[in-house]
Amino acid sequence: MKVCVIGSGGREHALAWRLSISPSVTKVYAVPGSAAMSGCAELVGIDWKQTEHLIQFLKDNQVDLVVIGPEAPLVAGLSDSLCSAGIPVFGPSKAAAQLEGSKVFAKELMKRYDIPTAAYGVFSDVESAKSFIDDTGAPIVVKADGLAAGKGVVVAMTVDEAYAAVEDMLSGNRFGEAGHTVVIEEFMVGEEASLLAFVDGETVVPMIASQDHKRIFDGDKGPNTGGMGTYAPAPVLTDELRDEAMRRILNPVVKALADEGMPYVGCLYAGLMITDEGPKVVEFNARFGDPETQVVLPLLDSDLGEVMMSCAEGTLKAEEVRWKQSSAACVILASKGYPETSSKGDVIKGDIEPYDTTIVFHSGTKLVDHQYVTDGGRVLGVVGLGKDLQTALDRAYGRIEHISFDGMQYRKDIGAKAFK
Ligand code: ATP
Repeated sequence: MKVCVIGSGGREHALAWRLSISPSVTKVYAVPGSAAMSGCAELVGIDWKQTEHLIQFLKDNQVDLVVIGPEAPLVAGLSDSLCSAGIPVFGPSKAAAQLEGSKVFAKELMKRYDIPTAAYGVFSDVESAKSFIDDTGAPIVVKADGLAAGKGVVVAMTVDEAYAAVEDMLSGNRFGEAGHTVVIEEFMVGEEASLLAFVDGETVVPMIASQDHKRIFDGDKGPNTGGMGTYAPAPVLTDELRDEAMRRILNPVVKALADEGMPYVGCLYAGLMITDEGPKVVEFNARFGDPETQVVLPLLDSDLGEVMMSCAEGTLKAEEVRWKQSSAACVILASKGYPETSSKGDVIKGDIEPYDTTIVFHSGTKLVDHQYVTDGGRVLGVVGLGKDLQTALDRAYGRIEHISFDGMQYRKDIGAKAFK
């Protein structure tokens, strides 16, 4: 089959790479993709927002399946437009993608169906938000309702910090429309894990659990980022806890969406806090995580193209999804100034081609005069694979010793929690 991946980041590089080695897939297109993705996909210079143009391309080239990587096209309804044109899509409808696109939508759905998550309030005026903060006390978490590229969440350690976050968001200066409503949440204590699942509208099949490292510095210090590294499997989500998360969270949310007339098709991402009372939802994403994808997909033993097509056609079976008995670790190499700013145009030195035991996925690079240069905050995701996590980590960090660019920064403690 011919598959088209929408997007151009590290997640999409991993998707295109994994699809390109799936026996059922004969051709991978990437819209628009990145220079590095040309190793596993044909790049197509179309903007997904030019939907008619995209549909024409997909039809002219008899593309069998479209895989939508990032959240923005999902929340904008690209999946709906392609489905209406008769093109199978791996990625939820605009209605179902509200699970990520609106935190208020997600929290209200969880409340209606008794799905475990932090207690919360929803506010659009500063005074009532502040009085909720006074009543709850700190630490407390303030979130912009809409999409804010991972930057719309403030974990406030003091009441004053929470006040400032509310004022900042509700003023509309910081996140515009996305911040006109805020969700204020109880602070949950525990370790985080990401549980992604393949979903065909009804059947939910979990992927291998992974763990992200959100903060910029070692020891989970400094500001939140898009994610500085991941590893899988993550032992914090034992089989027992995973089954509980499936029973109390992922299965009920997929059933709820189907019952409410917006069946969910694609990858459902549950960001979980493993609390003393069991797993609770931190957030849902309506797509693969970045950089979770970079460690989860190399461990998949099944044909990714077939599994995704089963999701699009509503015929997914648990037996279809098999995993390798090995581990993967991804260390993100970020550019100078990240996450506040990023540095572009720094020349990347070293060998960044994929090998069997390490793979370098490109998140933000550009090819200039036959040389890769930095082109964003997160630049490369260096993945090590091995029979166990230590081997995978040694391979990832070993590979990093041969890569460099001006201002390169990365965490040295990816995976450390797994050995606690
Ligand atoms: P992403 O970058 O994954 O899209 P986001 O902007 O949607 O993130 P969340 O995942 O909701 O934001 O929150 C970001 C981080 O803030 C979480 O990974 C977690 O570390 C912390 N956090 C969020 N909500 C809570 C909570 N209720 N209690 C404790 N920590 C929280």
